[in-house]
Amino acid sequence: MRIAICPGSFDPVTFGHLDIIGRASLLFDRLIVAVTRNQIKNPLFSAEERVEMLKDVLETYNNVEVDSFDGLTVDYALHKKAKAIVRGLRVVSDFENEFRMALTNKKLACHVETVFLMTRGEYSFISSSTVKEIAFFGGSLRSLVPPLVEEKLKHKYKYLPQS
Ligand code: ADP
Repeated sequence: MRIAICPGSFDPVTFGHLDIIGRASLLFDRLIVAVTRNQIKNPLFSAEERVEMLKDVLETYNNVEVDSFDGLTVDYALHKKAKAIVRGLRVVSDFENEFRMALTNKKLACHVETVFLMTRGEYSFISSSTVKEIAFFGGSLRSLVPPLVEEKLKHKYKYLPQS
């Protein structure tokens, strides 16, 4: 069975992520979307909230599951018996960091491949941080995140103290 993981912060999940996940789900028998618990400082959503949102928006995919993990991505991949780590590439500036990570991961676990999927043009500008900034200022999120995520973002910012 071809198993892959798709790791990321997903703070929160966007249409850009969902595009990559949907396309990767066609390439592997089983795809594990894995929320990193410890890799970003001050996430807006807790790891549990991020997992919950992903589960909701991915429930129609039979071969996709959602999990979270601490520690090194390659250790998690090996633990799950995954052959591949799927990452999305957006802009050229993603490349340097992704290249470095892929080479490091290859050094740590030579049998785990990193597979890059190129973003779709219309999603190339979407990132979780842009989405949070737009939500903070009350802009429209309709073309960027699923309705459920839009609701959660509105709820978060309504109750956050404005500084
Ligand atoms: P990380 O903090 O690990 O970069 P992210 O949640 O930002 O996690 O992203 C997870 C994965 O999804 C990464 O491979 C990232 O490049 C990819 N990704 C994020 N947004 C997009 C997008 N708009 N199009 C394609 N890939 C994307």
